[in-house]
Amino acid sequence: MVPFAYAAAPSADAAIAHVARRRGAEFIAGGTDMLQLLQEGVRVPAELVDINRLPLDGIEVDTDAVRIGATARMSDVADHPRIRAEYPAVAEALLLSASPQVRNMASIGGNLLQRTRCVYFRDVVTPCNKRAPGSGCSALDGENRLHAILGASPHCIATYAGDLAVALVVLDANVVINGPEGARTLPVEALHRVPGDAPEVETVLEPGDLITAVLIPASAHARRSHYLKVRDRASFEFALVSAAVALDIDAAVIRQARVAVGGVGTKPWRLPAVEHALVGHRVDDELFHAAAARAADGAEPRRHNAFKVELLKRTVERALRTVGSRS
Ligand code: SF4
Repeated sequence: MVPFAYAAAPSADAAIAHVARRRGAEFIAGGTDMLQLLQEGVRVPAELVDINRLPLDGIEVDTDAVRIGATARMSDVADHPRIRAEYPAVAEALLLSASPQVRNMASIGGNLLQRTRCVYFRDVVTPCNKRAPGSGCSALDGENRLHAILGASPHCIATYAGDLAVALVVLDANVVINGPEGARTLPVEALHRVPGDAPEVETVLEPGDLITAVLIPASAHARRSHYLKVRDRASFEFALVSAAVALDIDAAVIRQARVAVGGVGTKPWRLPAVEHALVGHRVDDELFHAAAARAADGAEPRRHNAFKVELLKRTVERALRTVGSRS
């Protein structure tokens, strides 16, 4: 591991100013992804600024929304009774992530910003445009069973690895970002970038920007939401395909629909064609089958991951059926 400096942030403003000013300085909270990347030599920060002592770990639920502090631990959010009842997709996505030990350490903000699990990204002796811009992409002609079928580019086909962000997209959640220019909110859907010709730039965050909270509005479709994850083993595994679904159903008619998927896209991937096929129609298994058939529109499978096309459709259909059957 390359040596780095360490500082505990005395305040959010001081930490933001410091990281914006000092080249190579980065925030650290739970550190569960960061420590792996440090050990592997993938990340070599000059300094880590620890934000764990800042008062950013609150979970406030009222009738209009929930505000989750960025350093709240995944396990605390997943166990919160009102989040389980009113935002079930959030609790389900968190409980299907990582292991209990990791969930006890990992922060909500860090979870949103976790890096890809592409094996070439985490192996510093292989070419990888995301880790070493311009070096090439080893996955294009290499092992790409776990890689993306949506949103890829000739420069990178890595999937976004997280679960929580996929659930937050269907709940119309925002992140609160404090930066050198002040505070702003941004839809979670707009936080991550597709790789294009700059796969090393994964989010729209600028130097010094710190996610301080997640805001989720209360809604009828949030209450009727679900997160389904399909993976190679039953725990401590990343998604082959996942689906987050939120439906507002009134008198058996779908008034609003939100559908997003993980494990298949280079960012949390919303499926507007599926949503459009659902809205205004009566809940029905045939409707769910027909809508889910649109889930893989635009997919570009690679040599080893063509199975994800059919798996994606079936995962979305199953998630829709589960939500549709909930009272
Ligand atoms: Fe690197 Fe992306 Fe290619 Fe993986 S898919 S080797 S992360 S450029």
